[in-house]
Order: sequence, then C-alpha cells, then structure tokens
Amino acid sequence: MDHFDIIIIGTGAGGGTVLHELATTGKRILVLERGPFLPREKENWDTKVAFNTTRYFGPEVWQDRDGNDLRAGMCYHVGGNTKLYGAALFRLRERDFEAVRHVDGVSPEWPLKYRDWEPWYARAEQLYHVHGEAGLDPTEPWRSGPYPWPAVSHEPRIAEITDALKAQGLTPSYTPLGVRLNEKQPHLSPCIRCSTCDGYPCLVHAKSDAEVSAVRPVMAEPNVTLLVDTRAERLLTDASGREVTGVEVRLDGEPVIFTADVFVVSCGSINSAALLLRSANDRHPNGLANSSGLLGRNLMKHVLGSILGVSSFKTNPTKFQKSLSVFDYYWGEPGFEFPMGQIQTLGKVSPAELEGSEARYAPLDIEFVSRHSVDWWLTSEDLPRANNQVRLGRDGRIVIDYTETNAAEFDRLMGRWKEVLKGIGCGCHILPNGRYFNAGSVTTFTHKLGTSGLGHQVGTAKFGEDPATSVLDLNCRAHDLDNLYVVDGSFFVSSAAVNPTLTIIANALRVGAHLHERLGAASASFARMANANPATPTRVPTTVAPSTAEPVLA
Ligand SMILES: Cc1cc2nc3c(=O)[nH]c(=O)nc-3n(C[C@H](O)[C@H](O)[C@H](O)COP(=O)(O)OP(=O)(O)OC[C@H]3O[C@@H](n4cnc5c(N)ncnc54)[C@H](O)[C@@H]3O)c2cc1C
Ligand code: SF4
Repeated sequence: MDHFDIIIIGTGAGGGTVLHELATTGKRILVLERGPFLPREKENWDTKVAFNTTRYFGPEVWQDRDGNDLRAGMCYHVGGNTKLYGAALFRLRERDFEAVRHVDGVSPEWPLKYRDWEPWYARAEQLYHVHGEAGLDPTEPWRSGPYPWPAVSHEPRIAEITDALKAQGLTPSYTPLGVRLNEKQPHLSPCIRCSTCDGYPCLVHAKSDAEVSAVRPVMAEPNVTLLVDTRAERLLTDASGREVTGVEVRLDGEPVIFTADVFVVSCGSINSAALLLRSANDRHPNGLANSSGLLGRNLMKHVLGSILGVSSFKTNPTKFQKSLSVFDYYWGEPGFEFPMGQIQTLGKVSPAELEGSEARYAPLDIEFVSRHSVDWWLTSEDLPRANNQVRLGRDGRIVIDYTETNAAEFDRLMGRWKEVLKGIGCGCHILPNGRYFNAGSVTTFTHKLGTSGLGHQVGTAKFGEDPATSVLDLNCRAHDLDNLYVVDGSFFVSSAAVNPTLTIIANALRVGAHLHERLGAASASFARMANANPATPTRVPTTVAPSTAEPVLA
C-alpha cells in the first residue's frame, strides 16, 4: 500500500480548505471523504427534495442523552455541510476573543486574539469570494482592507425593511456572503440570485462552498488523490502512542490501512470527536488525543431560532433574501447587560417548505404566509460546558449529550425582535419556521431549534497552550500526538454568536501555513507561481490500490 506525506480526512470547510493550501506543495496527499460528490440535478433546487428528504442531508440517526433518536441531518458529500449552507461568512467580533460574562457563566478567552486572526480572515474572504460592505455595523471588527467584493444588494422589500429599521434607530448592515454574484454584469454572473440557496445545494456551482472554492480548484494536481465514499473508521498509532501511523477504511468490505507522515482530521466537530474516540487503544484508552479528558466535551451549537414575520398588508416577492443583518443587540441593550446575539434574514420561505404544517399555520394558509412573510434567523451564544459532549453509545452510535445555556439571552433577543417587527409592520403574525435546519422534520414547530439543530457544531477539541485544559495546541496539533491535526470547528474555545464557517476557513489557512513549514514546502503563493510556470517539472501521480471507491482525480 502506498505511503503518503499527508492524509486529510473530510472535505468540508476545514478539510477542503487545508487541502487547497497544501495541494501546491508537491507533497503526496490522500484525501478521504465518506460521501460522494453531491449530484448536480434539477432536484438540487426542489424544496421538497432538499428539505423533506434525506437525499442531501444524510439519514444517519444519532441519539440524545435520553436514548431518543436524533436526526441531525449532516451533509456527507464532497464539501460537507457547506454544500447546503447559507454562505453567510462573518468574522467573530474583537470582544468575542476575550472573556465575556453571560447570564449562565463566562464565555472563555481565546489564546489567539482578533489581531492574530485578521490576516487569515482577509485571505479566507478572498478564497471564498465574500461580498460585503464595511463601516455600517458598529460591532464590526477592524479590517486591513475592504471586502473583496461589493455587498449583495437588498431586493425592494428588504430595502424597505432596512429603511424601517433605520427609522427605529437601528443600524442594519449587509450580511457578508460567499456567492459568485456579479450584479453589475448579470450576463457574466455565475450566480443567478435565486430563491433556493440557503439550505440547498447550488445547481450552478456559484455558491462558495468548500467543494467549489477549495477542492475542485486543486483536484487535478497530480500529487492529490481524493477517495470518495471512503469513511475513516479509526486511526492507528505506533507502539509509543506518540505518532499516528495509519487510518483504517473499508474497501470492498475489507479493512484497508493507508499510512502517512501527517494526518489531518476534519470530519466536522462531532464526527472528528467520534473518530478519535473510536480510535482508542492501549496507549490511549479513552480515545486518541484525550489525555485531558476533554475530547468530545465543550460541544457548542448556538441557541438558534427561526421565525416568519408576516404582514397582513405587504407581500414579499424577494427571491434572494439572506442579505440583511442586525447586530444592535449583540452585546445587550439598556437594562440587560448580557450579550443577546445576532439577527439575519434567512433564505425566502416557500409554500413547499411549509407543507405538512398547514394545521399549525391555520387560520392563515401557507400560500398567504409565505407570500407575506419576511423570514428571520436568530443566534445567541451558548457556553462551553464539559458536560455538553459527544459520546459513543454501546452500539457505537454517536450520542449527543447537550443541555442548553443562555436561554434567557435568546428569549430576550426573540422578544425584542418580535417587538421590532411589530413596530415596522412586519409582525401582524409572528410564526415559527419549523423546517430550516430540521432535516426531514414535520414534527418540530417552535421558535427555537432543539438538540438536533447541530449545523453550527464547534468546540469538541478545543485548542490552547496547556495540555491539561485543551486537546489541541495552538497549531491545532494534538498535544498527545506529534503528527495529528484537527482543522474543523472542533478547536473553538467559545461559539460567539455569528455563524462559524469563516473562522473555520481562516483557521484551516493558518494551520495550512504551519504545515507548509513543517513539511519544508514552499509557501502556497510561491508554489502557485511555480505551478503557473511551464518549466516546472511534472509531478509523478500518486496511485492507490484498486478499490470499489473510485479514485477521483479530475
Ligand atoms: C443548512 C445549513 C446552513 C448553514 N448556513 C451557514 C451559514 O450561512 N454560515 C456559516 O458560517 N455556517 C453555516 N452553516 C454551518 C456550516 O455548514 C459549518 O460550520 C461548516 O460546514 C463546518 O465545517 P467543518 O469543516 O467543521 O465540517 P463539514 O463542513 O461538515 O465537513 C466535514 C466533512 O467530513 C466528512 N466526514 C465526516 N466523517 C468522516 C469520516 N469518518 N471519514 C471521512 N470523511 C468524513 C463529511 O462527509 C464532510 O465532508 C450551515 C449549516 C447547515 C447545515
Ligand atoms: S443564489 Fe446564487 S449561489 Fe445561491 S443557489 Fe442560487 S445561483 Fe447558487
């Protein structure tokens, strides 16, 4: 069996991005992805298929701590959950990296501060083609330069809402978005500004997901081998327990081990923790990289909610709705000294999305609701708690043991937002949005997502300087193993109250630069320049033993 320089496991925001960074090193890289490429088909934009079936959100069933089935609906495809994400790519605020007092405790300080992240955020915004406008939102952190692309404009109803919010003294801003939209020259724009973006795959590959932005651009590099439909089962170590030597997968039903010098795990915070827990051996009886006992713990997922603000008078013909954000309550409000969170518009809700919940929207009919609603997404920070954890059940299934924190902050934000919506004529009826982030669910009908709302999972292998209180070091290398890195959302110290993906991407770029140094490779930009030079020697393609999982090279 071939030996590789690097094996990357998972191709989402973390794994896909680190692959993009390392592909030009010439090092022999094997990428293992448990899912296939997401098929490009008309159904990509079919609400009933995307939201009400498990075609794109997987059918896997986990358990909550009481043994109830939990259908979190992860997207196991090349690109991971970014295939279905809303592409709202926010930077954390400067204060998010400091200790902040919340209703239920303290959100801990990060070992690296905003100033350390800023250059990586800037690169992440370039790579994922982020549109935005600086200077509108007072909580926004400083930037070394403008957004790489202009903000995605508001459609008329959202512009009207924006003006109404401003008239109330609020400071709405544009949501930073990773879409390849050219509004000045629409005939040249890959993005067609459609109504099926947030929660759907992009049929025309114009959304900046990890497949489009990071994996595809380097797939043809001869030193990169991507094996799809290949799930990492466990990692193996040498006798000392200090080095990972191999990863076990199943090919044709038979166990096969791939070996490498360096392993980068990026299966998403929950699956990465599960993989390391499953890899327990004599030297690591509680799971790899778990001498602190913290692996799988401190799971955070945000306190999340979604509502429809229905006007009895005004229709909302908006197609692409996810353009508006409000940070006015992020750090609290007069009379409430705790952070409350962030508000943003969601992808436009359609009648098909509400189907199955007719009785719950009665006496309004779902056509009316979707034609008249502006749809909102509310996020409050949850706290890292050791008891909030990913475990393995006796049958090996993933167990999510999670108790919510900061409910009072979320309730305050929700209450305040409902009042604001009423005040601007967007809240004649305020109704739950029961479907988004609730793959296949027709049973949920609340303003707030339950335990299965795990799309924003972070924190299960936090990084830090002290091996007793963290799983990863500052380079996201396991304290316990010399050649094991984790680059998905697991390293987060706190969840802040903005969507996590830009920070995951920025971190993957940062860790990628460290790996460049470790591997003695040229820097990414140097390597790219060299690649553009036809005099650059051709690299020898890597071959992989025959398998049912088709090696994908182009
Ligand atoms: C509907 C929805 C909307 C969202 N909208 C936003 C948004 O607007 N903005 C934002 O910032 N975030 C958003 N998110 C969250 C965002 O998708 C995640 O933060 C991001 O994808 C996490 O990146 P990751 O690398 O940690 O994991 P993922 O992107 O989930 O990638 C993990 C990868 O590992 C693979 N994998 C898992 N286990 C194994 C294994 N054992 N072997 C091999 N491969 C494996 C998976 O198939 C997947 O490809 C959204 C999520 C959802 C579900
Ligand atoms: S809005 Fe643009 S990026 Fe989003 S799905 Fe439609 S075409 Fe793709």
